[in-house]
Amino acid sequence: MPRLVSAARYSLRKRVLVTGGAGFIGSHLCERLLADGCDVLCADNFFTGTKDNIAHLIGRPHFELLRHDVTFPLYVEVDEIYNLACPASPVHYQFDPVQTTKTSVHGAINMLGLAKRVKAKILQASTSEVYGDPQVHPQAEGYWGHVNPIGPRSCYDEGKRCAETLFFDYHRQHGLRIKVARIFNTYGPRMHPNDGRVVSNFIVQALKGAPLTIYGDGSQTRAFCYVDDLVDALIRLMASKDGFTGPVNLGNPGEFTILDLARKVIALTRSGSRLVRRKLPADDPRQRRPDIALARRVLRWTPKTGLDAGLKKTIAYFRGGLAGGA
Ligand code: NAD
Ligand code: UDP
Ligand code: UDP
Repeated sequence: MPRLVSAARYSLRKRVLVTGGAGFIGSHLCERLLADGCDVLCADNFFTGTKDNIAHLIGRPHFELLRHDVTFPLYVEVDEIYNLACPASPVHYQFDPVQTTKTSVHGAINMLGLAKRVKAKILQASTSEVYGDPQVHPQAEGYWGHVNPIGPRSCYDEGKRCAETLFFDYHRQHGLRIKVARIFNTYGPRMHPNDGRVVSNFIVQALKGAPLTIYGDGSQTRAFCYVDDLVDALIRLMASKDGFTGPVNLGNPGEFTILDLARKVIALTRSGSRLVRRKLPADDPRQRRPDIALARRVLRWTPKTGLDAGLKKTIAYFRGGLAGGA
């Protein structure tokens, strides 16, 4: 009589859970994992993500979609977890700030509990916001940050900081294999057109011929990473040696003022839009640029897509969407 062997042992495919998989970055990550031969389980409550982002994956034999809120427990069997679930734009994460903190904190506890039970490797999508309005420039991982604990951005910043704490405590206390990515501003196709982030706002405004809204005097800086480069970095981070936990900065070190970005978008869209000034939001960081020496050295990763090339692809995406009435 042959011995019974569990079905999972016949499968060579890695089973990967992506929380927030129907969002902007998550949908690109699901696509890449499928292309790499993984079995992908996408869990999302569709707060800011949408089925449209993953419509082309639904029905593929190795893709599964689960409507699930990570603030509730989840019992599944997987080998790796990418924890991306969390609204990411200020407009969305300030819409229901208590839920934002819950998503980061309860979501992290549940996903870490899951990882502990099934001995999965787990990656946290943390953020450059853990540095707050930084007093050190550019920001390296050793900088502890300058964050307002009680302001309108705190639900996101402090939620993500607490999630990092939980990741490191589960690592120290329970020996979990963790990876913490500090993601800097990322852009590309499938950004939500109304989520208020600067790249999507400017492109949509330029394509509609509406004025581009400059918050403050536009001299604040950001460094923008194209989504394909970021996804490549996340995959490399997950595959890195168990001894490497991060936190590791992932972003494109090319730094631009918001005015630079506005002028670039107007030029690339050949738009006749003008610029208008709006009030600078509270606690808006003055400057931001990642020091990516650690990612270069350990992950052998460097972003390949310059801002012009990435903007062209993103503009083409929004042009298609606006023409289709989106
Ligand atoms: P996004 O809003 O497009 O994606 C977030 C996804 O999480 C959405 O699909 C949303 O529906 C889902 N979600 C939110 N709350 C949830 C919950 N409670 N349960 C299950 N799903 C939930 O944003 P994004 O830009 O793709 O960001 C993905 C991750 O990367 C986030 O964790 C974000 O904090 C992080 N990040 C993004 C950037 C960036 O510039 N895009 C920068 C730093 C960090
Ligand atoms: N959890 C989960 N899926 C699992 C295992 C745990 O969602 O497969 C949740 C569980 O609901 C718990 C949390 O993860 O609230 C933390 O789990 P852990 O085992 O670390 O803590 P405990 O259950 O002892 O509170
Ligand atoms: N911003 C702007 N006009 C907009 C949207 C944003 O000038 O229509 C500015 C915003 O004040 C911030 C920068 O662009 O200084 C990046 O904003 P975003 O919300 O994209 O990301 P974050 O502030 O989280 O880095």
